[in-house]
Amino acid sequence: MRFFNLFKRREADCPEVRAASSDFLEGDMGRRERARIAFHLERCDLCRAFVNTLRATVDLLRSAPALEPPEGFEQRIRDSLRGGGSRDAQVP
Ligand SMILES: [Zn+2]
Repeated sequence: MRFFNLFKRREADCPEVRAASSDFLEGDMGRRERARIAFHLERCDLCRAFVNTLRATVDLLRSAPALEPPEGFEQRIRDSLRGGGSRDAQVP
């Protein structure tokens, strides 16, 4: 039974670890919390794969050249959300 509890406990950490994984990658957490995540990742293949994938995605986004939206894009979205979309025609 003790083993089972241990297993359960480990599983329960997974959502928590994944929720914290972006902070973990950013280094945006305390040393103790960080060690806890690292400890979990050492023994949990699934979370390790998750964090590795997330890290690859973050690196990709960082290295991607200028993903800035075009001028007026945000305003156009806001206008179309606000109503109708009839004002869209005014924007080149
Ligand atoms: Zn896990």
